[in-house]
Amino acid sequence: MKIRSIDDVTRPVEYLSPLDEYLGKMIRRWAEEEVIPNRRRYDEDWRDHRIIEPAFRKLMGEMGLQRMLFPEDLGGWGMGHSDYIGTGACRMFEEIARADSAMAVAFGVVFWPLVMICCEPHVNRRLCEEFAPMFCRTTEAVFAANAMTEPQGGADIENMEILGGSTIRTTAVLDGDEWVINGHKLWPTNSGGVSSLFSVICTTDPGVNDPEAFAFIFVPAHFPGVTQGGPYEKAGMAADKNGDIWFENVRVPSWYRAHGPGLDYMYFKEVISMGNLGSIAFVSGALMNVYERMYDFVTEHRYAGRLLREHDAVAGALADFAADLEVIRICAYQYARMLDRPDIYGPRWSDQLVAKGRAYKYFACDRAMADLARLMNLMESYGADRDWDIEKHWRDLKIVQLWMGGKQLCQMEVARWFFECETL
Ligand SMILES: Cc1cc2nc3c(=O)[nH]c(=O)nc-3n(C[C@H](O)[C@H](O)[C@H](O)COP(=O)(O)OP(=O)(O)OC[C@H]3O[C@@H](n4cnc5c(N)ncnc54)[C@H](O)[C@@H]3O)c2cc1C
Repeated sequence: MKIRSIDDVTRPVEYLSPLDEYLGKMIRRWAEEEVIPNRRRYDEDWRDHRIIEPAFRKLMGEMGLQRMLFPEDLGGWGMGHSDYIGTGACRMFEEIARADSAMAVAFGVVFWPLVMICCEPHVNRRLCEEFAPMFCRTTEAVFAANAMTEPQGGADIENMEILGGSTIRTTAVLDGDEWVINGHKLWPTNSGGVSSLFSVICTTDPGVNDPEAFAFIFVPAHFPGVTQGGPYEKAGMAADKNGDIWFENVRVPSWYRAHGPGLDYMYFKEVISMGNLGSIAFVSGALMNVYERMYDFVTEHRYAGRLLREHDAVAGALADFAADLEVIRICAYQYARMLDRPDIYGPRWSDQLVAKGRAYKYFACDRAMADLARLMNLMESYGADRDWDIEKHWRDLKIVQLWMGGKQLCQMEVARWFFECETL
């Protein structure tokens, strides 16, 4: 009989969200009933989401999790006012990613644009009122997307400290009391026809390195001039659709800009911090499932008559994986706590917290890739067998390593902050 479980992997229980146990149990039950039994068929469902969509509907619409950031008086759960946004998100993302990390990113990105307007200390009440009904008055799953990446490059747009938005080509021009938006975005999670609402990273003065020109503007997907392409076919992560979006003379009210000159740029760095927290939690959650599956594998399979786990060489690789899993999980919760306690660690949009999030994200991805490669070697042919799910997590976590500027942008920002590099 198994004595150890994923719940024995350490997390700092003394500072968890009061909702941690409730949310954790609720999502674990959903994952075990709705996702894990079906997930091996997800790869073939990448275009249509016929199998995937009902699980999203249950989690987000019927269980209501898509409402959580909005204020309670607007039909939400009020979590935008909570001191546990980071630790609460970390638990939810882990539990979903244990079943399917693409579902975790598709779920997490719903909140990515909303962080800008629903979270203290920068709530934009008018925009909350505008968009709350879209998410709170339905039991259907409603998605949002954060459109940053453009054809000429995604990393440069996130590299704000050095490039200050100077490479953004999507323009926003004020015409009376409306913004007129033109541009082409690609790759956003929840594009490919899924989202009802976009946040669009624009410039009001193309080519300048000026925080005031950086604009974060909300665009409902059904507005005239918005066109979406179909989803790309990727190595994995079928539950996350990614594609092109074109904005052609799209008109939105001027107050759809999140906060205005300078402030959009500043608070957008918090969106980056939250994206890195999500990425670390997706890795930690998927690795929890790798632990469960590997436990079974080395307990069922034998070599030279002895269980695999009883061989020194195998035990060494298992120990290296367990050590990484411990550190990555602790790291995810520590970063979450740092984002939850601005009174101790400073604002979530500080260059320090952005750089540290990038450090933890690329550390977690690098370790996961190395561990999965070693574990698949131990499994020999079964490493490639879908029945064991390890190859799924390997494909999915490689993708986590690639997004948000890939590894190079992470390295540059970490070196820049810790070593005060001046030219990177
Ligand atoms: C599944 C998935 C989900 C995604 N979700 C989103 C989303 O929600 N929203 C969104 O806007 N985008 C999203 N993306 C896009 C992703 O964030 C970008 O692909 C990523 O930021 C890199 O941009 P790029 O592919 O254009 O590469 P480029 O920016 O063109 O980078 C090219 C190369 O230059 C390197 N590089 C970049 N900066 C530096 C530097 N400072 N120093 C040295 N080398 C550097 C890069 O590492 C890379 O090797 C997603 C991508 C995937 C695969």
